[in-house]
Amino acid sequence: MFLPRQSLALLDPLQWPDHTDEQRAIYKSTIRFVEHSIKPNLQRWEQEGMLPRSLHREAGTLGLTGLGFPEAFGGTPADNWSRALVTWGLSQAGAGGVIAGLMSHSIMVWPLAVAGSKRIQSRELPQLLRGEMIGSLCVTEASGGSDVSAIQTQAVACDQGWKLNGSKLYITSGMRADLLLVAARTGAKGSQGISLFAVPGDAKGLSRQPLDKTGWLCSDTAALFFDDVYLPHDALVGEINRGFQLVMQNFNAERLFMAVQALAMAGVCLEESLAWAWSRQSFGQPLIQHQVIRHKFSAMLQAMLPCLHWARRLCQDMDGGRANAGEIALLKNAATRCMRDIADESIQILGGQGFMRSSASERIYREVKVMMIGGGADEIMHELACRQLGVMP
Ligand SMILES: Cc1cc2nc3c(=O)[nH]c(=O)nc-3n(C[C@H](O)[C@H](O)[C@H](O)COP(=O)(O)OP(=O)(O)OC[C@H]3O[C@@H](n4cnc5c(N)ncnc54)[C@H](O)[C@@H]3O)c2cc1C
Repeated sequence: MFLPRQSLALLDPLQWPDHTDEQRAIYKSTIRFVEHSIKPNLQRWEQEGMLPRSLHREAGTLGLTGLGFPEAFGGTPADNWSRALVTWGLSQAGAGGVIAGLMSHSIMVWPLAVAGSKRIQSRELPQLLRGEMIGSLCVTEASGGSDVSAIQTQAVACDQGWKLNGSKLYITSGMRADLLLVAARTGAKGSQGISLFAVPGDAKGLSRQPLDKTGWLCSDTAALFFDDVYLPHDALVGEINRGFQLVMQNFNAERLFMAVQALAMAGVCLEESLAWAWSRQSFGQPLIQHQVIRHKFSAMLQAMLPCLHWARRLCQDMDGGRANAGEIALLKNAATRCMRDIADESIQILGGQGFMRSSASERIYREVKVMMIGGGADEIMHELACRQLGVMP
């Protein structure tokens, strides 16, 4: 017996109530982009280990790379839920590497928009927002990522401007980036001695080494080395020794959209395993007819839906400038656990098929850990929440 089915309305933003026409249009255009330009090429990009530059330009033409950023710099202002819908749409490719690689600039452009030099704001920033340049945020080092205040890469003032020495690790789009926003020590130990620098990708003394990883295969990740890299005075972004604050402000949006991505990826797994459960026969009937199997799906929805509503409310809070960093941290933890559990359960339902490279759930399962570590690890998020929400004295 074959049971025809449609995707779940609860997981389809076009069927969610109270979206504006503009939000529906943004979502539809993202889905068209995913279906026509991403899905047919994904397998190849995963093998090649990076996305083509043309994809960034295409996303730029559609307005996806500049969404939510000021018009003055070539962006398109939008509320945070609209940006979340783009994240949800891009996630339908079932490959987190697409979002990581295509949107790596999104975690480094805010400091440039808020505090970059006139030269960078008029030249590089619009190109980043139009997808004509690729950007990377470079904070993590071999000595540690969670403890940003322990950064060892150093920038020293010199006649020409600045001289940069040190290294960075696990940098998304690190092999392709045309502009790197690098956190470096300019002052005393701790968080108050860190500044941000805009480093051109062709700077003399910069070298790059690709890193091999478990998931996000179509997103290039690199170790970067700065060996006497000279930078002009106006490469400094913001005030000297105030870089930590700029980086921290950036983290809220990154974590909120990672949470949305995790939920969307959980949804992709759920849809894949549900389609399988409707068609796969076992003991004379489709899997879904076994109560123990169908209850797995209601349990998945039970875990996802509160997080989804929470994400929407936090997007509104962020629009109003009142989002709590601790709450965003907890949502990131809850959403990435949701992704982990649903990817796991989906593969269980898919059986042997779920262990094959052709299944989206298998790919997403390999991406769980980077979502629970990158952008602020689970343990660090709990600690932040304890501080921000009044748990700690
Ligand atoms: C694929 C990928 C892409 C990335 N892209 C970028 C990028 O573009 N730019 C960038 O700057 N970084 C990037 N990162 C780095 C990422 O942000 C870090 O991996 C992350 O912040 C954790 O740092 P770490 O790996 O050094 O782990 P550590 O900081 O060494 O932590 C290891 C473990 O110990 C726990 N831990 C640490 N301190 C404490 C504590 N005080 N209490 C309790 N537990 C603790 C952590 O939660 C974690 O579980 C990327 C990482 C990956 C894997």
